[in-house]
Amino acid sequence: MTTASIPADPAAQRLAAVRDAMSRAARLTDRSADDIRLIAVSKTHDADAIRPLIGAGQRVFGENRVQESQQKWPALREEQGDIELHLVGQLQSNKAAEAVALFDVIHGLDRPSLLTALARAMDGAGRRVPCFIQVNIGAEEQKGGCPIADTPALIAAARDADIPILGLMCVPPADVEPAPFFALLAKMAREEGLGRLSMGMSGDYETAIMLGATDIRVGTALFGERPAPARPVPGSGRGMIRNSGG
Ligand SMILES: *Cc1c(COP(=O)(O)O)cnc(C)c1O
Repeated sequence: MTTASIPADPAAQRLAAVRDAMSRAARLTDRSADDIRLIAVSKTHDADAIRPLIGAGQRVFGENRVQESQQKWPALREEQGDIELHLVGQLQSNKAAEAVALFDVIHGLDRPSLLTALARAMDGAGRRVPCFIQVNIGAEEQKGGCPIADTPALIAAARDADIPILGLMCVPPADVEPAPFFALLAKMAREEGLGRLSMGMSGDYETAIMLGATDIRVGTALFGERPAPARPVPGSGRGMIRNSGG
């Protein structure tokens, strides 16, 4: 690239920087960056923050809450028809129908009860939404994701229910080296004959690509820092609204 091709718009600059880093990581492992899907995770950012990225050519976006997505995306999709929308967060079973109606890919299928709800929602909508099985790759108590030992059975159950499974997804434990967890997820996917790996976020997507990621979920590196998680401030009397519901 020549300096003349550096875009002036900040969103376009951040997008170009991420795409460059993706290409470098892909080249190091003899892969093509064209085989890696960049999911721009736009959670907490409003339409005005998202539009410049659409303007810069980004079409694949990720959100982690059904309700927030319902408020933002129908209007944005009217402006730009060919958006692909991924649900990257936890999904409650009672929101399965809404998720099936809105999203093109669901990354958080992690338990039999959700599988049942999604299968029913897909039957009702007459639409099969491809899913990733989320694996609790670090065996963390508080975290979503299917236990490693239960994952083959969940994959088999999804196949029985005619839910298209693209691959495996994980969020490794925070503050430790993620590479061993990415490598383990890749090994599990190979053993199940699954082609896609949803792994890698702003801090570790290059490592994830070098270990086989096909779908990276990048928020902060494209949009800047998110506002701090909204919580009621003790004693302030102010309840926050943004993160309620899902
Ligand atoms: C927020 C989120 C991301 C993006 O995280 P960044 O560190 O901002 O890139 C990726 N995956 C999931 C599941 C998320 O919730």
